[in-house]
Amino acid sequence: MVRCAIMAILAFPEEEVSRPLAAPQYAHWQAALADAVRDPVELCRLLGLDAPLAAAAKGAAGRFPLLVPRPYLARIRPGDPEDPLLLQVLPRVAERIEAPGYLTDPLGEAEALVAPGLLAKYRGRSLIVAAGACAVHCRFCFRRHFPYNSSPDSAADWGPALRQIAGDASTREVILSGGDPLAMPDASLARLARRLGDVPHLRRLRVHTRLPVMIPQRVTDELLGWLCGGGLSARVVVHVNHPAEIDPSVAGALGRLVDAGIPVLQQAVLLRGVNDRIEILAELYERLIDIRVAPYYLHQLDPVAGAAHFEVAQSTGVRLIRQLRTRLPGYAVPRYVRETPGGLSKEVLA
Ligand SMILES: *Cc1c(COP(=O)(O)O)cnc(C)c1O
Ligand code: SF4
Repeated sequence: MVRCAIMAILAFPEEEVSRPLAAPQYAHWQAALADAVRDPVELCRLLGLDAPLAAAAKGAAGRFPLLVPRPYLARIRPGDPEDPLLLQVLPRVAERIEAPGYLTDPLGEAEALVAPGLLAKYRGRSLIVAAGACAVHCRFCFRRHFPYNSSPDSAADWGPALRQIAGDASTREVILSGGDPLAMPDASLARLARRLGDVPHLRRLRVHTRLPVMIPQRVTDELLGWLCGGGLSARVVVHVNHPAEIDPSVAGALGRLVDAGIPVLQQAVLLRGVNDRIEILAELYERLIDIRVAPYYLHQLDPVAGAAHFEVAQSTGVRLIRQLRTRLPGYAVPRYVRETPGGLSKEVLA
């Protein structure tokens, strides 16, 4: 069937086919970051979408404006307002609708802040909110209301967080999160990694990021250098929600990490209209294991204000995971989890 669809496309005269946009070439990942699309009118024009969608996006975005890097934009199907990649980034009127139980700090993270920008919620692991910035604004992000300006912007300001980590011998692992930690320059990250490497009781460094998926060029030699060279055992957890997010350049970027000996794990959020179908999830996880990325967590949506329209019932999530187990190798099926305020671990739902 897929083959027939391709033939049908090829049979069209060129101008009638909505072709994906070419991804621009950039000299450096930071140029790609700076060149991201921020204006809904431009986004809709580039994708051949109706102007009312852009107007609605402008009104709905609030204090979490549209942000889409062009290498990701190139993977969105033009002319399709329901494209699963577009749904993740285009503000919708539904964001303005208040839903009961949907909060600005759904995980009670303010409670777990033990130093500026440092969350210690689970035993042995501390999470540094290393950067306020991201390469993309995911509309369902649970930290979309996080008071980022209260955390420092560069490794030079990490004194209190580092002192806290150094003073707690039970901490074995530090997670760099955000925002997206890889939005920071490698020089700052290398400095931070070095200082963490100097803490005697620390063993592992974990990076939670979506940047290599948004801008594959982010996997630089310098990045591999500080990840591998800091004396801590490193791993990377990438956020990927849909198989169409993985184009050859993303596969190549993640492959470079794996080739460098860094375990790469993947997490996703279960999202209505994006990945809440068995075929989509099966394809996502199969593509991931094909490129040697290990599925780790599938998250139940955190009830963050503005994201209620993405919710999938937990019973549906459990059913999807059970179906995946009948189709894929065991190592291709992630744990379906939910985060609870005050919990001692993520709660495994299936
Ligand atoms: C998810 C999370 C972690 C890591 O949990 P794992 O189950 O080890 O992946 C650590 N700290 C915080 C605050 C988290 O939200
Ligand atoms: S990349 Fe991660 S932190 Fe940034 S907006 Fe998306 S989900 Fe949130």
